[in-house]
Amino acid sequence: MLEKMNKKFDPAEIIEEFEILTKDAERVQIETLQKILEENGRTEYLEKWGLNGRTDPGSFKACIPLVTHKDLEPYIQRIVAGDASPILTGRRITTISLSSGTTQGKPKFVPFNDELVDSTMQIYKTSFAFRNREFPIANGKALQFIYSSKQFKTEGGLAAGTATTNVYRSLQFKNTMKAMQTPCCSPDEVIFGPDFQQSLYCHLLSGLIYWDEIHVVSSTFAHSIVYAFRTFEQVWEELCTDIRKGVLTSRITVPSIRTAMSKLLKPNPELADTIYKKCSRLSNWYGLIPELFPNAKYIYGIMTGSMEPYLKKLRHYSGELPLLSADYGSSEGWIGANVNPKLPPEWATYAVLPNIGYFEFIPLRDNVEAQKHDEIELSMENKPVGLTEVKVGEEYEIIVTNFAGLYRYRLGDVVKVTGFHNSTPELKFVCRSNLLLTINIDKNTEKDLQLAVAVAAKLLAEEKLEVVDFTSHVDLSTDPGHYVIFWEVSGEASEELLEECCNCLDRSFVDAGYVSSRKVKAIGALELRVVQRGTFQKILDHYVGMGAAVSQFKTPRCVGPNNSSVLQILCSNVVRSYFSTAFC
Ligand code: AMP
Repeated sequence: MLEKMNKKFDPAEIIEEFEILTKDAERVQIETLQKILEENGRTEYLEKWGLNGRTDPGSFKACIPLVTHKDLEPYIQRIVAGDASPILTGRRITTISLSSGTTQGKPKFVPFNDELVDSTMQIYKTSFAFRNREFPIANGKALQFIYSSKQFKTEGGLAAGTATTNVYRSLQFKNTMKAMQTPCCSPDEVIFGPDFQQSLYCHLLSGLIYWDEIHVVSSTFAHSIVYAFRTFEQVWEELCTDIRKGVLTSRITVPSIRTAMSKLLKPNPELADTIYKKCSRLSNWYGLIPELFPNAKYIYGIMTGSMEPYLKKLRHYSGELPLLSADYGSSEGWIGANVNPKLPPEWATYAVLPNIGYFEFIPLRDNVEAQKHDEIELSMENKPVGLTEVKVGEEYEIIVTNFAGLYRYRLGDVVKVTGFHNSTPELKFVCRSNLLLTINIDKNTEKDLQLAVAVAAKLLAEEKLEVVDFTSHVDLSTDPGHYVIFWEVSGEASEELLEECCNCLDRSFVDAGYVSSRKVKAIGALELRVVQRGTFQKILDHYVGMGAAVSQFKTPRCVGPNNSSVLQILCSNVVRSYFSTAFC
């Protein structure tokens, strides 16, 4: 078994396997569902819905309802509490994943098992094989900004941690990274350290020590790469001092990290001087990554969806290096691999692997009203369709049935079908399906907010400023209610400029419901609140303190009244606020 996992894999073989799987995606889907239902047919959940051992798609869809996490919570809770009976899966669940929870406000518990590790490795290998064909790398190291979350035991004795942590801990992960010839340059103690700021510093230091071997700079979500190099701007001189003297800064206090890093660190004044000179030469840190790591071939991480706003900064640090978006998945399981790595992140798509789960798609056309209430009474028109029945150009909400006890589970993501790879669809991630901003008849999604901020941020760029991060809130304490947009800006912007940005934001929400409500004053003037530098760092710290992993962190793009701690962080850091005059 170990031998098999250690084996160097052949990318051509992986591509060949993928081609075979995707040529007959419909049959593979039927077989995958059959396998899932055979393994789990005797579970309390499937028996409750009267499946009676049947394994065909027709019976499955007729018996099993579409559910959200909330519906499954009572079952998951029992598993978490230690109930070992077959509740959702035939084989006992011994590990629980915590979703990042940054979109919903609190982490969700989802079952995790070996099959999810297997599918993660399949996804990693598949996209690597395609990537390596276009951007070959060999015998190098990866500077990976990856961090484990705190792991703990649930009251029932199950191991719990974020999905990425569960994956990093698996032997398979290490072996796959080795087989890809890009092991992480940092010691394990850094990845699994208890303090992510210290881990981040040591990731940077490890990268610099192995500077000429670094072939890839990566993270799970692109935010972590941007965050890392923003931090580099603050600590680069300290890093140089450590390298010059061969002594680790006293800011690293975790004994295991100190011991591990001391083994790597030797006095190297020459390297310290080179780094110092390179950094001093750079203009506003443009092209920092290739300057530090001249043998890097590309930057890799999830760059779509809520990561898109960081692309501009990432491009700034990356100079001419290509940005390759990583794959599409969630704590609940993986969905698709990026098999067209040459496409820029804005165009990245994900080809669904038909053997890692059973996938259905709810057509979203004409369904906006239902979406608004998040309670879909499925009409004939928007009944879920199968993986191979989706249509190019259409948007869908994705439904997952996996090997870890989720059946017809609404993931809450909206995707658009852009084409097919053989007979499996290629999906573009659109946004989370829940509406972010709505007061009256207005409906604005995460994507709408992202677009509005991108337009308004262009005005800031004229003064060489940028939006470091942003979020939103619906303020109903005023009558009428109004949208509040929080911005952290990279420097001092003039009053006039921010007033202009505020008006621009208001005008950039082009949804007809919003515009008409604004005109008749059923929605009040949009408010732009500028927060102090470091506010979004405090939000990140807050989530990390609650057990979230930096690796999976996504800034919440809307902060609801239930998320009072984050709202409190935002409101107590406001330095200036503006009301739009756009509809006066
Ligand atoms: P988590 O809750 O941490 O497991 O995050 C999973 C969610 O992250 C997914 O449901 C998506 O909303 C988002 N996500 C994952 N992969 C991608 C991707 N490639 N592009 C955009 N969003 C993604």
